[in-house]
Amino acid sequence: MSLLSGAVLGGGGLLIAECYGPTFQGEGPSVGEESLLMRLSRCNLSCPRCDTPQTWDWSRFDPREVSTRHSVEDLAAWVMAHSPRLLVVTGGEPLLQQGELVALVKLLSGRRVEVETNGTVVPLPTLVEAVGAFNVSPKLEAFAAPRDRRINPEALRAFAACGKARFKFVVGDISQLDEVASLVVEFSLTQVWIMPEGTSSAEVIAGQRALAEHVLARGWNLSTRLHTLIWEDEGGR
Ligand code: SF4
Repeated sequence: MSLLSGAVLGGGGLLIAECYGPTFQGEGPSVGEESLLMRLSRCNLSCPRCDTPQTWDWSRFDPREVSTRHSVEDLAAWVMAHSPRLLVVTGGEPLLQQGELVALVKLLSGRRVEVETNGTVVPLPTLVEAVGAFNVSPKLEAFAAPRDRRINPEALRAFAACGKARFKFVVGDISQLDEVASLVVEFSLTQVWIMPEGTSSAEVIAGQRALAEHVLARGWNLSTRLHTLIWEDEGGR
């Protein structure tokens, strides 16, 4: 059993930070695709540069004000009432609630679900079967907590072996690409995407330009941050 799997939340229904859309999938292999976004509350990490601290940082936010529990039936009804065929489930760390997440996905007829995860929780076989893809973003040393919290070898190996994972690394500068390469080799990762850090369109464009040739040289893929290019740091888009 994983060190982190004991952190799974219970209580019935899903703890939600926000749901919105239609919008576009803003990052990774499906960028630009019409989608709905469901942000689950709670995280098992506490990355200093996290851009969604309202999902976990109770020193700054009151969880009773920034999260609400909803039944999977109500959430499924919300998804099915909208036209996008893609549902992006993000967080926080969605796999802390993966039992209920499986129940939700099973109610979504004709919809594809992508789950964004930090890659530290071993996915249930039933979740692997139910979702279309995992966008796994292991955190690098400069971004997150010590390695024994941000890297869970058992979970990363499970994602690498499941056949549905794409690995998306948020990179601050090119000096961090060697750390990505080490993880790629150590865990036999395929489908590697590099995405620049940045909360403004100017930062994202500059990051992409700085990274592009280096990412090509390593045989990886480059992701933009479409929401930031279009809407800057405006929330709920
Ligand atoms: S894993 Fe993601 S949601 Fe959790 S603290 Fe880190 S950046 Fe924030």
